[in-house]
Amino acid sequence: MNIVDIILDKRYGRELTYEQIMFFVKGVTDRSIPDYQTSALLMAIVLNGMTEKEMTSLTLEMADSGVHDDLSFVGDITVDKHSTGGVGDKITPLVMPLCHSFGSKVVKLSGRGLGFTGGTVDKFSSVEGFNIDVPKDDFPRLVSESGMVISGQTPDLAPADKILYALRDVTGTVDSIPLIASSIMSKKLAGGADAIVLDVTCGSGAFMQTEDRARELAEAMIKIGDLAKKRTVAVITDMDQPLGRTCGNILEMQEVYDTLTGNGEDDVLDIASVIGAKMVKLSGKAEGLSDEDLVKECRARLTDGRVLNEYISLLRSQGGIVNDNGPVYKDQPNKIYEVKAPKEGYVNSIRTDEIGHASAMLGAGRIRKEDDIDLGAGIEFIKKRGDEVKSGDTLCVLYVGNNSKIDTSGRPFKETVKRILKAYNISSEKPSTRTPVIDVLGDK
Ligand code: URA
Repeated sequence: MNIVDIILDKRYGRELTYEQIMFFVKGVTDRSIPDYQTSALLMAIVLNGMTEKEMTSLTLEMADSGVHDDLSFVGDITVDKHSTGGVGDKITPLVMPLCHSFGSKVVKLSGRGLGFTGGTVDKFSSVEGFNIDVPKDDFPRLVSESGMVISGQTPDLAPADKILYALRDVTGTVDSIPLIASSIMSKKLAGGADAIVLDVTCGSGAFMQTEDRARELAEAMIKIGDLAKKRTVAVITDMDQPLGRTCGNILEMQEVYDTLTGNGEDDVLDIASVIGAKMVKLSGKAEGLSDEDLVKECRARLTDGRVLNEYISLLRSQGGIVNDNGPVYKDQPNKIYEVKAPKEGYVNSIRTDEIGHASAMLGAGRIRKEDDIDLGAGIEFIKKRGDEVKSGDTLCVLYVGNNSKIDTSGRPFKETVKRILKAYNISSEKPSTRTPVIDVLGDK
């Protein structure tokens, strides 16, 4: 078999066989196929798509390119959760303790942030003392002690995906439903959970900009999950504006704490309640509640202190310091600038990707994989879609950490502010409302 024939087959729209896909993934993993040929095939896949059979073969092969985690020590149904990415997404730190409050055991492997999408690993890492690199040997102890564990993904989980994703990032081949679906699902299958809840984001801050594309991606992943015999539910959520009132690592963890102490935003609570409810249901702990009542119960627990206690024990079980005022953070967000509305009207839309890039420019995200992150950097959104503004009102507040080198009189900073102003679209018409949870698919 040879890789040039495989590239040509895909280029001319012929379906690849299982053997061809296996040959490709093996060659990617052992680096025997050079990056230029891998990139050529990736581009042919972007342009000509993949059949369901090809997509499933690619997923299974990528999942088999490394270790498969064994979660049998949990002794119960395990449910994993994944978001396709966004800005201000703080759902994981909320749903892990929420699920545990129903008796579910939670094992979560998460990634670091890259580009404008924040990473859960970075968020938890902002808590003083918190150990996010838990050796797998320690999982059983932590699960038996606190019922929850969260750790960074190890390099041996779906290594083919890591190589492919890095190449896709620099060859304009990220935006492809079969490539995104196989990338996400290969990691979920190798992660070893029995069931999966996917948060498929949709809008200007998501890979899928339209609802139709989000549905297509959700359906592709549900199909792969079904074929792999993993119950998979997808929740389509709005990412056409940042989620909640902050983005940035410490700011978001502070918002998590505020949410659990009764001061949360409705969009965050809506999404966390639905995702949490689906996870609880799949793990068999729904206690005979109807779907609707389960969502209501999740929302109640998120705000009445029950999940707060679980959250604090999760942080403490992995070394995080929590005192009477809440978690202690490694740095502190310092207010450096208020972005003001240039005219009056209504916030009609917020280009979420632009906001994410601006936040990364402040230091909250990584432009390159090896970049350091400023845990204190980020943005607090004072005005969101639908809010009325007067000229000069504060739209959002910019923050940086104690050691930031940002010069507020310098050009890069002024560019950042310009970018944020461009992202806020203010018009005279009040926009129609969008619900944070758009649909739930695969919940049979
Ligand atoms: N997240 C992933 O893990 N892979 C993709 O391809 C896109 C988002």
